[in-house]
Amino acid sequence: MPIQFTRPTEPTLSVVRTPVSGTCKPCGSSDLRRYPVLTEDGWFDVVKCQTCLHTASREPGPKLGGIDLLVDLL
Ligand SMILES: [Zn+2]
Repeated sequence: MPIQFTRPTEPTLSVVRTPVSGTCKPCGSSDLRRYPVLTEDGWFDVVKCQTCLHTASREPGPKLGGIDLLVDLL
């Protein structure tokens, strides 16, 4: 018997974008958000202005993004 998954109810996938206090230097907006992004160098935790998409901060994130490896918890 094939395994069946029900259709997701959300139309799109999204990540939680945590609001960060601060001001975007180029455009002056205070709508800064922190969230994980996947680049060719792996996952990064970035803080980006949601108005002009200026990157205010970019730090290496967990190797597999939102997935926690059991081995990392040992
Ligand atoms: Zn901005």
